[in-house]
Amino acid sequence: MNYKKIKLKPKKEESLKRFHPWIFSGAVQQKDASLQEGEVVNVYTAADEFIAVGHYQIGSIEVRVLSFEQEEINSEFWEKRLSVALNLRKAIGLLSPENNSYRLVHGEGDGLPGLIIDVYAETAVIQSHSVGMHESRMAICEALKVVLGDGLKNIYYKSETTLPFKANLGAENDYLYGGKEVNDVAIENGLKFYPDWVKGQKTGFFVDQRDNRALLERYSKGSSVLNMFCYTGGFSFYAMRGGAELVHSVDSSSKAIMLTNKNVELNFPDDNRHEAFAEDAFKFLGSIKGDKYDLIVLDPPAFAKHRGAIKNALQGYKRLNAVAFDKVAPGGIVFTFSCSQVISKDAFRLAVFSAAAMSGRRVRILHQLSQPADHPINIYHPEGEYLKGLVLYVE
Ligand code: SAH
Repeated sequence: MNYKKIKLKPKKEESLKRFHPWIFSGAVQQKDASLQEGEVVNVYTAADEFIAVGHYQIGSIEVRVLSFEQEEINSEFWEKRLSVALNLRKAIGLLSPENNSYRLVHGEGDGLPGLIIDVYAETAVIQSHSVGMHESRMAICEALKVVLGDGLKNIYYKSETTLPFKANLGAENDYLYGGKEVNDVAIENGLKFYPDWVKGQKTGFFVDQRDNRALLERYSKGSSVLNMFCYTGGFSFYAMRGGAELVHSVDSSSKAIMLTNKNVELNFPDDNRHEAFAEDAFKFLGSIKGDKYDLIVLDPPAFAKHRGAIKNALQGYKRLNAVAFDKVAPGGIVFTFSCSQVISKDAFRLAVFSAAAMSGRRVRILHQLSQPADHPINIYHPEGEYLKGLVLYVE
């Protein structure tokens, strides 16, 4: 194709030969002077051999690779990639009357760097993390209609907070298709919820905790459950279905508490086992009596959003987990998570270990959790691994 050109410095094609999808600015020898952020570019080695085609961007990552083959980025390309992604979700059994919410595209994990698509019943929510994906949004929208077919009634575009800069790209949050009569109830493992893609966080619901919520359900029977950082209450309504005796949900955002109450009510109307509190997590945990809860969930927001914040974040995880270990009843269980991409599994485990040691309790690891299969990790791009969790038995 006649795309503009980027030429790499000698030997800088090595990581691309191993299919790593990013090209850093330090690897670039030459580029077309008229190149605009978001444009599709062809990338060549120093010896002038084609090596990749991708979206050009300004910053430390200059190209996010769309293909290692010389091909045109057209409707056929988008349809092909989206149908590969959909087939994977079908193969892992995610689409059924019991479950119509799933992540269709997980960025690099689906060969589409900078693109997230979550599906909630009849609505797909597209989120761009690069200008290239932003500029391709209408093409992606058309391809989505072809690939998802009649089941798709609305496409909402939500990239106001995820695009790399706020240079008035325009139309960052809007319906690209449908939007008139929206069915706003989706189903996850047979439980109903209202995803709020317009006002909620991210695309409106955290689909990445689906499997971990199902595990929690298995441990809930007869328990008093405390769901910290509940957001829209996912873990809470699973615990209720699992037979918990009491479920308390806590989030500092009163909007989140409202959504939690709505979702609990949708599944368990007039069920007085549940109560939700709009309060700071540390304050709430500090004020509760020990032994009150047999099961505590800690699913805080990413404490480290970049490498510079790792040290403080680890302190934060340690402090938070230490309070949970202090408070959980003997023989209790703690589900603890970190969704910070820059915190490794080992570093997180070490923080939890330190917290356990501080509390002096005997703690055993029952499960090591991660992100679900609709958030696949491209083996050539380990940076795509972000969610980790531990299920701990506290004597
Ligand atoms: N467990 C949730 C997702 C959690 S997202 C789920 O399954 O969907 C993290 C949540 O932490 C957000 O809803 C945010 O409002 C909340 N939060 C952030 N800081 C907090 C604090 N200091 N105390 C309590 N909640 C907090």
